Amino acid sequence: MKKELLYEGKAKKIFATDDPQLLIVSYKDDATAFNGQKKGTIRGKGVINNRMSNFLMQRLERHGIPTHFVEELSDRETLVRKVEIVPLEVIVRNISAGSFAKRYGVEEGMRFGAPAVEFSYKSDELGDPLMADAHITALNLTSSEELQTIRAYALKINDFLKAFWSERGITLVDFKLEFGRLPDGKIILADEISPDTCRLWDSATGEKLDKDRFRRDLGGVEEAYSEIMKRLEEHV
Ligand code: ADP
Ligand code: UDP
Repeated sequence: MKKELLYEGKAKKIFATDDPQLLIVSYKDDATAFNGQKKGTIRGKGVINNRMSNFLMQRLERHGIPTHFVEELSDRETLVRKVEIVPLEVIVRNISAGSFAKRYGVEEGMRFGAPAVEFSYKSDELGDPLMADAHITALNLTSSEELQTIRAYALKINDFLKAFWSERGITLVDFKLEFGRLPDGKIILADEISPDTCRLWDSATGEKLDKDRFRRDLGGVEEAYSEIMKRLEEHV
């Protein structure tokens, strides 16, 4: 069933299958940050990200969000629906952190009255620049209807994930999503949802339990990923 390697990214490999509408995603332990400048390995990360992403996408499907998830094939491999990726990083923020805090000169940890959705152009060469809605449609990256759909899905996903993690003692600070188009033009959620793509803080202690431990050399990276997986599985 698994055929040639189509693409090797920073965190995952993508393989063709016998079915032109399906792909196999294989999650690696490789970690990068700062647009690939910092490189490393987080032992066991691929297994955790694969399982966590699949678990959350199945929950989101039941919550009315169409996703690329088809079937978990092994610890690291998943069958997904092939999409034409919309080249946007769709970021939802509940609390200031990371590039937001830096850009606007505010402390991390400022709680917003309402979630803030922002879009970056998915381009390593350009350093993923922030984009206004008008820029997205000017460059024909999406139609304005598609952009509305993407924003509505992103906010619905945020409501679901915030409540999901809150029940497990975790505060969802921010996260990144990617969407894609099926051949009939339908927009679905693709890529992954994991500690690589979310900021997750322990609600009681404020401890960071996500990729910031790697980005900022905080130590205990593997332990943080395992702790998040444990919290997820505790309440299944
Ligand atoms: P990067 O490309 O940023 O290094 P990854 O290592 O995570 O990231 O590679 C996975 C690639 O596969 C990403 O470019 C992502 O946009 C793409 N992708 C994710 N889900 C799908 C899908 N269902 N169909 C097609 N491409 C996908
Ligand atoms: N993010 C991501 N991939 C990226 C950029 C950001 O998954 O290429 C996630 C990141 O993990 C965080 C959120 O999106 O949960 C917001 O990231 P931010 O813009 O603050 O950028 P960073 O500080 O990571 O550079």
